[in-house]
Amino acid sequence: MIILLGPAGSGKGTQAKLLRKKFSLEYFGSGEALRQRQKVGDFTGRKLIKVLERGIWAPNFVISKLWMDELEKFKRKRKFNGLVSDGSPRRIIEAELFDEALKWYKWQEKVKVIFINISKKESFNRLTKRRQCKRCGRLIPWLREFKKLKKCDKCGGPLVVRIDDKPKSIEKRLEEFKKKTIPVINYYKKQGKLIEINGEQPIEKVFQDILKTLK
Ligand SMILES: [Zn+2]
Repeated sequence: MIILLGPAGSGKGTQAKLLRKKFSLEYFGSGEALRQRQKVGDFTGRKLIKVLERGIWAPNFVISKLWMDELEKFKRKRKFNGLVSDGSPRRIIEAELFDEALKWYKWQEKVKVIFINISKKESFNRLTKRRQCKRCGRLIPWLREFKKLKKCDKCGGPLVVRIDDKPKSIEKRLEEFKKKTIPVINYYKKQGKLIEINGEQPIEKVFQDILKTLK
């Protein structure tokens, strides 16, 4: 069980995908799950679109439901190599619920929490300049290796600045992270599960640092 935490723009999504590939892990990304949830055209789906646009976090019960549906699916798998969670839990109440769920499914052993730390300024820069492919949805990070791209390097689609990455909503998200997720990080630190990684390095170097700590 690997939980990846870090402020928006820290590259935790990218690292989660690398880990998933390397160890054949199951993946849960709250951002991705919420984007899927928005597409369900019901009351919650529509409300989530409005709320997330303003940089406000989705309520606990919505996140917990998404979690539970996924964990139940993983439990049904014949071959389960573990899970990497990208950006969740990010509030104390979610962390407690998550602990409870892991015990329920008997997955409480070997939980590692990796905190990818970057400064607020770095986070802000990466987010205001991050782009997304209009065709396949690929996120193009604002890092040296991608800055020159004019088109998507996967499918050739056009790139646009992501809609939830407006300066005001970014400020709000970073503020929320400090207020709500830093306590989660401290919560895991007290349990001796926390590993801190310097996120202001190239993707490959961050990944190597993570691998070292997993041995
Ligand atoms: Zn693309």
